[in-house]
Amino acid sequence: MRPLKVARAAGSGGSVPVEYCQVCGHAPLDDVLSLGYMPPVNQMVPIGTVPEQQPWFPTNLLYCRNCELVQLGLVVDPAIIFPPEYPYTSGTTKLLRDNFADLQRESAAMLGLGKDDLVVDIGSNDGTLLSNFKAAGIRVLGIEPTDVGDIANQRGIPTLKRYFGPEVAREVAREHGPASVVTAANCFAHIEDVHGIVDGIVAMLKEGGTFISESHYLVGLLDTLQYDTVYHEHLRYYSVPSLKHLLGMHGLEVFHARPIPSHGGSIRVYAARQGNHTVQDSVRRMLSAEPRGEGMVKRLTAFRHDVVLSKLRLLSMLRELKEKGRRVAGISAPSRASTLVNYVGLDEALIEYVCEIPGSLKIGKYIPGTRIPVVDEARLFENQPDCAVIFSWHIADELAPKLKAKGFRGRLITPLPVPRFL
Ligand SMILES: [Zn+2]
Repeated sequence: MRPLKVARAAGSGGSVPVEYCQVCGHAPLDDVLSLGYMPPVNQMVPIGTVPEQQPWFPTNLLYCRNCELVQLGLVVDPAIIFPPEYPYTSGTTKLLRDNFADLQRESAAMLGLGKDDLVVDIGSNDGTLLSNFKAAGIRVLGIEPTDVGDIANQRGIPTLKRYFGPEVAREVAREHGPASVVTAANCFAHIEDVHGIVDGIVAMLKEGGTFISESHYLVGLLDTLQYDTVYHEHLRYYSVPSLKHLLGMHGLEVFHARPIPSHGGSIRVYAARQGNHTVQDSVRRMLSAEPRGEGMVKRLTAFRHDVVLSKLRLLSMLRELKEKGRRVAGISAPSRASTLVNYVGLDEALIEYVCEIPGSLKIGKYIPGTRIPVVDEARLFENQPDCAVIFSWHIADELAPKLKAKGFRGRLITPLPVPRFL
């Protein structure tokens, strides 16, 4: 049964509160956490722009006791969240590139993919994931609505620049034939019409075909206190039970699931039409390790408490540094930095600037909702502030040695899960 009432904001130019579960339609939903009001993370204004009025949206999490889905309490028009100049490219971190190479190896081996197979990637970004399948001689097609799709096309990864939905799915199936694999990496939680997406996926999949999704993992998010991944792009925070419920509504069965390191903790889930594949032991193992029902309510209550403590601890650490006259900068400006900076209440007097590596499209802009400039990391090495907060703390192990090797002499701070000096 599809839910009768679903919050839809597409085309509204604004936002719509979520009053019924986005997947199963259940109401009322439990309040989990409120981070207050936040600016859209992808609207970064150029440095020097005179501050103008800007929409801020309530940012809160809700829990559905019926299907176990944790979800955002507000759906914002995708035109606001994904502007055409969307500055994110997935090829930029090594961890993501390695993960996509692993996804190709794992799926090609498990499913026996060859040159007659077609792999379609939804939200294909700059084509990084598909480039691995293409290199293995497999036919590929990307679907990406933003201008980043041009980069993929220039790299030789055929990419349709369209918003994905059932209509585009039918067109793809007609023109390219049925797909052996459909992938959706880090976008399956982002599109508001979730049932439309799954309908589209089913329409593209050949009999026996496999849908592979990669999404932020709710349990990992709770364990490592990643409230900073809560922003309006991320409508749903999946666990294995909630994904199983959603896909089951469309006749798809989860047959393999495992945690992966992307974005500080994600899950990769394989699904196919009921009975097409043997359900692997990995699914049972993951299901049995996850809290549900009252257990999840307890877990979420503890999370809410820990989030506020982490904010207070970071502020107290920064207060001590400022009282001693220390200068503090920031390292990297991923979307999650916007949530952390705005929730904790950081500004340009606390964090003088944030560095990005050369080539980043964010350089020359302000962190959303603030006057903190994003600058080329060369500034960090010339300027040598006393401390630097790593906003992409989930890849601090990758970044810290590089920063030291390039000559940064200050102390590095990771803000989460517990604020600390490295
Ligand atoms: Zn639900």
